[in-house]
Amino acid sequence: MRRVSQPTACLSLAGLLCAMLVLAGCRPPATDTQEPIGSQVALRLTQTAAAPTSARPAPTVRPSETSIPTTTAIPTITPTPTISPTPSHTATATAVPRATVELGSLPHPPARFDGPSHFYFGSPTGGFIASSYRYGSVGPGQRFAPHHGVDYSAPAGADVVAVAPGTIYYAGSDLERLFGPQNDFYGNLVVLQLAQPWNGRALFALYGHLDQIFVQAGQAVAAGEVVGTVGATGVALGPHPHLEVRLEFPESYWDTRNPELWLTPASGYGTLAVRVTNAAGFYLPGVRVDFVCGDAAPRFMETYWYSGVNPDDVYGENAAMMNIPPGYCDFELTVAGQKVEYRDALVAAGTVSFVDIRVP
Ligand SMILES: [Zn+2]
Repeated sequence: MRRVSQPTACLSLAGLLCAMLVLAGCRPPATDTQEPIGSQVALRLTQTAAAPTSARPAPTVRPSETSIPTTTAIPTITPTPTISPTPSHTATATAVPRATVELGSLPHPPARFDGPSHFYFGSPTGGFIASSYRYGSVGPGQRFAPHHGVDYSAPAGADVVAVAPGTIYYAGSDLERLFGPQNDFYGNLVVLQLAQPWNGRALFALYGHLDQIFVQAGQAVAAGEVVGTVGATGVALGPHPHLEVRLEFPESYWDTRNPELWLTPASGYGTLAVRVTNAAGFYLPGVRVDFVCGDAAPRFMETYWYSGVNPDDVYGENAAMMNIPPGYCDFELTVAGQKVEYRDALVAAGTVSFVDIRVP
């Protein structure tokens, strides 16, 4: 365990270590590289901070009219939503300490969803993705900078493998070469350039916090080939593999995408891409979305905080999760004390299912 005074890059082992540190009051101090999530005051997810009219998007399309090209592999997942504007009985007057976000400053969702799914990545390691600190989220208690990747629960020393065939772009430490918001952020890292670009754009997988590295720049690797082992180098609260997807700019912290939309889901499972916007079409950041799918297990995700993270070029989502059992899912979220429900979204195996939730 080291460098807890630095901005936190990742959680470990499903966030357990982190949660312990948080409980112990070991919160890293705010720095220039940490998003100002700890200093905000009130929940203001309404349109009060809307951009000037020139920056407003075109009038939104109702969910039932959403245009999804039939030529794409995106399933038709826009059943007429049951959006309940009934105020939640659980809403209280206690303000949740959330960011005051200029909604108009966030990227605007694309008007339509276009293109086939892009499951170019196999699993980088064993274990599962830590649910408490998914891409674009800020972790338990909202104490961390928005996450630019995902963390796995694999133990120290476990193998980390190439997610696809490709060529090693970089292998070594980031002590003197910048890949994150500061040097020594990822510690020992490997950046793999996939042999297969996406839409003509170079595609990269970044592995952070490694212990050992077994490859070197310029080396060709096969899918599944071991590139290193799980460690806790750089800014990490404990050993865990951190995986990022970078498009076009392998050394840019600001050009990531959500890995859960690039990782191939387990056989028989699908992936959810969710967009939560308000009536004016602005992304709503930091909204917890609880949902239940075919296996009746409770799941949740948190919409992106959009401080340096990006929606996918195909989906324009602000939350995503892989390995969802096929079948119908019901969603529930609360925005500014108002409960919103979205029912009967159909998830298909082997592809990305898109859910567009408009908060009235
Ligand atoms: Zn991480």
